[in-house]
Amino acid sequence: MLDKKNSHLQALHCVLCSMGIKETIDHLFFECPFALTCWRYICPNFIPHQSVHDSFAAIKEELKSPFHMEVSVLVTWSIWRTRNNYIFNQIQPSFYRCKMIFKEELILISFPIFLTWLTACAYYNIINKLQ
Ligand SMILES: [Zn+2]
Repeated sequence: MLDKKNSHLQALHCVLCSMGIKETIDHLFFECPFALTCWRYICPNFIPHQSVHDSFAAIKEELKSPFHMEVSVLVTWSIWRTRNNYIFNQIQPSFYRCKMIFKEELILISFPIFLTWLTACAYYNIINKLQ
């Protein structure tokens, strides 16, 4: 990603796996084994698609939640923060840490819509998966 922004930094290989693959949006957020582990925790049958749009559509279909976009953004954000924690703070990536980021962010964004969230059937299913 830094490569596309004409960064002075060297092009990065994905730091979330040991595959030596150049970091792209598709790899980092959907194809990387680390990202797949994160997505499959929320969407057990998730399979990455050819485009980011199609991958999000598949997640929407599987979640069947009115909050699918919020959940998708939080998972993506958690993967991004896990990556940045390694690059900038030398914090080793782990699924556990990524899940903790997700939970922290979920609490922050869900508070204003908490009552609505509680009424959604999907809420119950997602929280159960996080425990
Ligand atoms: Zn990777």
